[in-house]
Amino acid sequence: MQTGIIFDIKKFAIHDGPGIRTTVFFKGCPLSCRWCHNPEGIGKSTQRIYRRERCIGCKECIKVCPNSAVVEKEKRLHWIATDCNLCKTCAQVCTAEAVEFIGRTMSVDEIMAEIAKDTVFYNQSHGGVTISGGEPLMQTSFLLKLLDACGELDLHRAVDTCGHTDTQTLLRVASRTELFLFDLKHMDPAKHYRYTGVSNEMILTNLIDLCQRGARIIVRVPLIPGFNCDEENIERTGEFIASLTGVPQVNLLPFHRTAVTKYKSLELENKAIDIKLPSKNYLETVARRLEHYDLQVKIGG
Ligand code: SF4
Ligand code: SF4
Repeated sequence: MQTGIIFDIKKFAIHDGPGIRTTVFFKGCPLSCRWCHNPEGIGKSTQRIYRRERCIGCKECIKVCPNSAVVEKEKRLHWIATDCNLCKTCAQVCTAEAVEFIGRTMSVDEIMAEIAKDTVFYNQSHGGVTISGGEPLMQTSFLLKLLDACGELDLHRAVDTCGHTDTQTLLRVASRTELFLFDLKHMDPAKHYRYTGVSNEMILTNLIDLCQRGARIIVRVPLIPGFNCDEENIERTGEFIASLTGVPQVNLLPFHRTAVTKYKSLELENKAIDIKLPSKNYLETVARRLEHYDLQVKIGG
């Protein structure tokens, strides 16, 4: 039985494609965008989170750990990663919910059991299932199986992707997908590389290719002040999307700060701490600018 690593299943999602949806978040991403709002989705494997501010100091986690992987040093708890086998016992006994493990191994059947519970809502709202992440194509064979299982129930399938993958793999996914939510972050390869860890060349080629093959696509442009909001990039973005076959719809996704506590809990550096929130006026200006290219633009997902 094949399994995948999932870090969340969001019910009643209304910003991840049409209608009411269930969004399944796959772990692992080939990019490391400085502003990532799902940092728990970047790593491929299960991760531990310790929320120091919730800890009541009962030390139950130390007592139950079969591998002595939780230790106290200078009145602070530490987890020794090399000794921890991720059995999650420490999280199970923590009544303060200070310890949590992000990433759960699940089978297609287990995920489908969750998805199937809300079929009535998908049918009533013309919704369905969205596979997001992380980057779903990092777990391709599991993704294909899950999409096939959704197809057997005749559910509408959307895949949210950064597009950084080989074209053949993407086309296999496309043959089982009704809608792509395709991220377009920057038109300049060097700047794209500097802020996300990869160049945009493969991403742009894949987007062109998918459009030429008639895939239904919503291009999602995150608006990150200081990265991609300058006039030149917005104009190049508009020109590029307008040149695509079928001219996909555009969603503008404004930068937000909901991930601040996630970075803290994961003990990851938050490189987006100084990024300003784009104002409503600014978002409207960008939307109007893109509409000059005859694009259908929406602010939000
Ligand atoms: S079990 Fe939870 S609350 Fe108790 S010491 Fe461990 S982390 Fe803190
Ligand atoms: S997950 Fe298991 S092995 Fe790891 S620290 Fe917790 S109790 Fe110990």
